[in-house]
Amino acid sequence: MPRPDAMPADSPALRFEGAVAHPESPPRRSLDPADWAAFRAQGHRMLDDMLDAMSTVADRPLWQPVPAATRARMRARLPLAPTPLAAVHEDFLRDIAPYSSGNAHPGFMGWVQGGGTPVGMLAEMLAAGLNANLGGRDHMPIEVERQITAWMATLFGFPSDASGLFVTGTSIANFIAVLIARAHALGTPSRDEGIGALGRRLTCYTSQAAHGCVARALDMAGIGADAVRAVAIDRRHRIDLVALRTAIIADRAAGFEPFMLVGTAGTVDIGAIDDLAALAEIACDEDLWFHVDGAFGALAILSPALKPRLAGIERADSIAFDFHKWGQVPYDSGFLLCRDPTAHRDAFAADAAYLRRAELGLAGGDHWPCDYGPDLSRGFRALKTWFTLRTYGLEAIGAAITRSCALAQRLARRIEASDALCLAAPVELNIVCFGFAGPDADRRNTEAVTALQLAGRVAPSSTVIDGHTVIRAAMVNHRTDERDVDALVDALLAMPSTGSPVQ
Ligand SMILES: *Cc1c(COP(=O)(O)O)cnc(C)c1O
Repeated sequence: MPRPDAMPADSPALRFEGAVAHPESPPRRSLDPADWAAFRAQGHRMLDDMLDAMSTVADRPLWQPVPAATRARMRARLPLAPTPLAAVHEDFLRDIAPYSSGNAHPGFMGWVQGGGTPVGMLAEMLAAGLNANLGGRDHMPIEVERQITAWMATLFGFPSDASGLFVTGTSIANFIAVLIARAHALGTPSRDEGIGALGRRLTCYTSQAAHGCVARALDMAGIGADAVRAVAIDRRHRIDLVALRTAIIADRAAGFEPFMLVGTAGTVDIGAIDDLAALAEIACDEDLWFHVDGAFGALAILSPALKPRLAGIERADSIAFDFHKWGQVPYDSGFLLCRDPTAHRDAFAADAAYLRRAELGLAGGDHWPCDYGPDLSRGFRALKTWFTLRTYGLEAIGAAITRSCALAQRLARRIEASDALCLAAPVELNIVCFGFAGPDADRRNTEAVTALQLAGRVAPSSTVIDGHTVIRAAMVNHRTDERDVDALVDALLAMPSTGSPVQ
């Protein structure tokens, strides 16, 4: 049956059998402002307020608990009737903005989060103004995404026709890489038949220090998290190459089919970088898809001092990383770079009449972004990334990355110089894992992290190293400087030991 909305309005076919008579339609009214001048003035106020907030971010608490009354106000009835924009903005200023998670603040050292920039904020506004849909079709916003892809191919030493795709974050970029590797290993018919039909038992190799999203990607891909071999790590948290080769041999002997190797450039706990050149060699010998999870660490390639540590990344089949971490682009801005665009499309391209390509017109262009991933409708993440890279330049972003690592070294030296604190892991990059020395350290570390977060000046997070809870400070934000590092150490040294002896 023809779809009524595909017919011209005057078509007699519109009156098909069973059609429901519509009640008299309300007067036509768009959602654009009736008074553009007043709207413009309000818009300028909102922009000014946000610039004020960004330029004074260091003067306010990094984080504060959300008051019960504020949370309660958020629980409102369905907003059937309109509210003036100015009033909604007042609510934002009172109830939302002060209770953000604080990653823009220079004292933020928790997890691994970027600080964002005013340039990124403005670009995000422009992208929302265009409201472009980057799933496909022939328009310039897609060329911006292609430009970023070409820049990343140059940066990482990939072929110039490498494919790339913006996604929410590295969790999804890793997942897409697993789907590409899966189709590559099993052949494209497996996309129709499903992986169960073949009865093949695929296995994927990564290290014990890999991010949890790698195992989840295998789970979501239907291969199963048990297919992940979490290979042992050395003292510096890099994958043990002998253990890796041994695991592959043992699996093949047991009837498994090794198909993928995931190296990490910047482990989530301590920032370790696997020996990527050695991994590339093993992947080549064993015919494995070589993927690098470089969520934050891959962009260390922008730092001349750190770039040599990533040697071998240019031999990867795919790299996942985030512009929203060390790249300082506002959330979210994850990215997948793939060496072989054909392998990439083989995992996703599909034939649908309503997405048919044309020689001319809006439906032009051979390959659309929807041929490279599961999303059809996609926002314009590329624009804030393009603005950030162009406005600051790669050298300045690289310098901020170098500085993060220097700050981590400063923190390590201050810890080593104190009697009360000690390092819990080597400082490989920008992350320092440490804690109180002496008995009862786990409890003191846990309580110290909470106390620091509540105080709102500097905020590390915690993790577990060798079975012990430790304080973890990750330097990612470009605003963080020596004063923040010193504030962290000074605050910890000033904390009472609540009964247990420190020295
Ligand atoms: C942050 C991180 C991820 C997850 O990235 P998201 O952008 O949060 O999805 C994966 N791997 C590593 C090593 C990370 O640091």
